[in-house]
Amino acid sequence: MPEIKKLLVANRGEIALRVIRSAKELGIKTVAVYSEADRNALHVRQADEAVLLGPPPSSESYLLGNKIISVCKELGVDAIHPGYGFLSENAAFAQKVTEAGLIFVGPSPEAIDIMGSKLAAKAAVAKYNIPLVPGTETAITDVAAAKERAAEIGYPILIKASAGGGGKGMRIVEEPSDFEDQMQRAVSEAQSAFGDGAVFIEKFITSPRHIEIQVLGDQHGNIVHLFERECSVQRRHQKVIEEAPSAVLTPEIREAMGKSAVMVAKACNYYGAGTVEFIVDEQLNYYFLEMNTRLQVEHPVTEQITGVDLVKEQIAVAEGKPLRFKQNELRIQGHAIEVRVYAEDPANNFLPDIGKLQTYQRPQGPGIRVDDGFEQGMDIPIYYDPMIAKLVTYGDTREEARLRMIRAIEEYQITGIETTLPFCRLVMEHPAFISGQFDTKFIEKHFKPEDLQTVPNEESQQIAAVFATFLQEKNQQQQKVNEVVSPSGKNGSAWKNRAR
Ligand code: ADP
Ligand code: ADP
Ligand code: MG
Repeated sequence: MPEIKKLLVANRGEIALRVIRSAKELGIKTVAVYSEADRNALHVRQADEAVLLGPPPSSESYLLGNKIISVCKELGVDAIHPGYGFLSENAAFAQKVTEAGLIFVGPSPEAIDIMGSKLAAKAAVAKYNIPLVPGTETAITDVAAAKERAAEIGYPILIKASAGGGGKGMRIVEEPSDFEDQMQRAVSEAQSAFGDGAVFIEKFITSPRHIEIQVLGDQHGNIVHLFERECSVQRRHQKVIEEAPSAVLTPEIREAMGKSAVMVAKACNYYGAGTVEFIVDEQLNYYFLEMNTRLQVEHPVTEQITGVDLVKEQIAVAEGKPLRFKQNELRIQGHAIEVRVYAEDPANNFLPDIGKLQTYQRPQGPGIRVDDGFEQGMDIPIYYDPMIAKLVTYGDTREEARLRMIRAIEEYQITGIETTLPFCRLVMEHPAFISGQFDTKFIEKHFKPEDLQTVPNEESQQIAAVFATFLQEKNQQQQKVNEVVSPSGKNGSAWKNRAR
């Protein structure tokens, strides 16, 4: 069996650090790659070796697959971990890595290829009796026929890019008169964004939850699931808050979804860590959306409730080892919540913000995990995903994890940049979140930017004024003491003098 002794992490930021940490614990040497914008990044400092790839744009650095493979050859690397984003779901890259005699820490190129296309994925799972959202099974070529199908399904419908990802490439059509127009836009958007104009339609589920299942398979045909993650709090079809387990699933539905997810993975002979995403309606009927063939951003919540280090398992599977546990040996213990700390202004439509982390102090204490890639004084580069950190809390119960999250957000000190933290705090305290009764429309239904403005009331203004006067007086007194003790100022501060 091939043993991985040296691993190159083809990524940046928090996920590169995350992978490096597990590799270190396994005694594996690590190689970081970086762009000119990331010279001082933590992943560069934490790895045993680091190699500059090129200028900041990812097309000239983190996406240079051939260059990354040649770095591996030069440095005697045996395996590449792609993290998420960048090259992680690029089947051609995975193929080249294997052809170069290296190990790709991820699934087979064939599995990436099938699941990279939402249409191919649906076709692959069709024979396994997995519930699918009603829609078209193939790319739309005949707009008139598609419109007929849309009428059968019932409006609103969703036009989706088959190659879409990251919440992009989706259009809601409310009524038949908009159909042709929206279809045209969707095709040209899909073509320019993903280089593939294939689109299909799906029934638009109006109050859905996004619940996904973590799966893990080995190269010997064993596949297990590690339960669900609830990811319904989203903006722009992208997740901001995730938790495990979901507050609404019954043990029966959990088991059924878990079995369906394992079947989806079997449909493409999956090995490694992967995520099967489902959309769940108000009656808790679930439908397969897509499979992400990589480590997911929100994987830490699963690690917290199962005690499994998913990166270590990915590495073991890549080395050809059989899974260390069977389905019936896995248990949910406690509850975990993750909030994504983005450099975005929630008061301004979650627009990305850039700048320097003037103050950056992480929360600490029991049940808190921070996965990040920044330190105080660092700039958030504009070239990449604006995520600063993932703040994860763990508790015996959902309520303990939630209260811990509020405490952690209070302790987290970030200035110089707007972040999603104040928004996440509002969510933690919202009755809909507390009750567990919410869907992907959380922000539309429950959030107004004004809620974030903490206009000081009269009482707090008075307290502030009193405090300011007090400080002023204290400073004046202090100055006097300094003058008395050290008239020339040469002997240092009054405090130091007193301590002598
Ligand atoms: P997750 O799917 O892990 O919950 P996201 O949806 O935020 O998290 O996506 C993870 C990362 O992958 C993000 O950096 C996102 O921009 C990137 N990503 C996902 N799909 C694509 C795609 N098709 N093209 C480019 N980037 C993508
Ligand atoms: P991506 O590859 O961009 O992650 P997904 O198919 O996973 O695309 O969808 C992203 C999000 O869009 C989902 O989490 C959900 O909020 C929303 N969505 C997707 N399909 C539907 C649907 N048929 N009805 C309602 N919302 C949907
Ligand atoms: Mg998705």
